[in-house]
Amino acid sequence: MSDNYYCKYCGASSSSVTNLTGGMCPRHPNGSHRGHHAPYQGGKKSTYTCQFCGTTSSGIQNLTAGVCQGHPNGANKGHHEPML
Ligand SMILES: [Zn+2]
Ligand SMILES: [Zn+2]
Repeated sequence: MSDNYYCKYCGASSSSVTNLTGGMCPRHPNGSHRGHHAPYQGGKKSTYTCQFCGTTSSGIQNLTAGVCQGHPNGANKGHHEPML
């Protein structure tokens, strides 16, 4: 078992929360590398759904790569974020 934890902003994976949150996140909502990875607290899914707009993807990394029409900071002002 490894890479059990995923960043909800960018999909980066790590075997421990400590390692994950120790890294800077390229898709952090405050700006690229303006904050740390944050662990996704939902379980592993075959499909991830954006909590803001409902866009779906098969992986967190793919989902968060796209900009979100329904982002709370404004349309296309941030990336999709998976709901739990
Ligand atoms: Zn991240
Ligand atoms: Zn979205």
